[in-house]
Amino acid sequence: MTDEITISEDILKKVIKLRKSNTHKGNYGRILLIGGSENYGGAIIMATEGALNAGAGLIAVATHSINLTALHARDPEAMYIDWKDNKLASLVPQMDVIVCGPGLGTGDQAKRLLVMLKEKITPDQTLVLDASAIDLISEDKNLLPVKAGHLIFTPHQMEWQRLSGIRIEFQTDQANLTALHHLAQNNNATLVLKSNHTHVYSEYGTVYVNRIGNPGMATGGTGDTLAGIIGGFIAQFGPNPDTILAAVYLHSLAGDLIYQDHYLVKPTQISSLLPKLMKKYA
Ligand code: AMP
Ligand code: MG
Repeated sequence: MTDEITISEDILKKVIKLRKSNTHKGNYGRILLIGGSENYGGAIIMATEGALNAGAGLIAVATHSINLTALHARDPEAMYIDWKDNKLASLVPQMDVIVCGPGLGTGDQAKRLLVMLKEKITPDQTLVLDASAIDLISEDKNLLPVKAGHLIFTPHQMEWQRLSGIRIEFQTDQANLTALHHLAQNNNATLVLKSNHTHVYSEYGTVYVNRIGNPGMATGGTGDTLAGIIGGFIAQFGPNPDTILAAVYLHSLAGDLIYQDHYLVKPTQISSLLPKLMKKYA
C-alpha cells in the first residue's frame, strides 16, 4: 500500500507569506481563467472569486459574451474578454497560470479553446484543468495541452473515472498514480482527486490526503472555487506541490469555519473568508 501523508495546518504557515512593502501586482502573478458557457456563468464567477480572494496579482477571464456584464458587475478587479475574441490567443503566453474548465461546457467552442491552448501554452506556464476541460480530454486525449510546464488535474471522482478509465471503486492510490504518470507524458503533473477526503498525487509517487472539510461543502460551485484558489496560489507562490496542498487545505478550512455556525457552506462564502484567513498565517 502507498503511504499517505496527511496535510496539516503547518502547510499554510509554510506557503503564505507576508507581503513586502515594496512589491506591486506584478509580484503576485498573472492568471487567466477560461470557462463559463451560456448556461454556466456562475461557475466562472465562482472560480474568478476564488483566484481573486486568494490574492492573484492580475486576473484575466475568458468567457462566453453572455457572462461579461455579470462578471464586470460582481468582480470589477479582473479583466474580461469574450472567449471568441481573436486577441485571447495572444493573451495566453503572457500568463503564469491558466485555469481551464469551470462551466466551460463540452461544445465546439470549448474544444476550439482547448486546441488554442494546446498550441499557445509554453513550458514556463502551469495549467489547471477542471470540470468540462477534463471531460473533453477524456473524450479525446489529443486535446491535452502537453507543452504546459506543469499540469494540474482537479477532477472529482466521476470526472477522474472518465479521464483515467478507473471506476470509482477501483481508484486506489497505486492505480491513480499509474494513471497520472501515463497521462503526464513527460510533464510535471499533479492530480487533485476531490472527494470528502481529497487526495493529492504527485507524479513522482507521493500521496497527500486532506482530512478536513465537511458535507456543508457538497454543493455546486465548491470545486470551481477550489480551481480558482489553486490558480491564485500558484500565481503568487509558484507551481510547487506545497502551494497546491496549501490551497486544498485552506479551501476546506474556510469551509469548516463557516460550517461551525451555518447549516451549509456557499462557495462564495469560502472565497470571501480567504483574505482574512490568510492574514492569520502570513
Ligand atoms: P466539485 O465536485 O468539483 O464541485 O468539488 C467539490 C468540492 O467540495 C471538493 O473540493 C470537495 O473536496 C468538497 N466536498 C464536497 N463534499 C464534501 C464532503 N462531504 N466533505 C468534505 N469536502 C467535500
Ligand atoms: Mg467541479
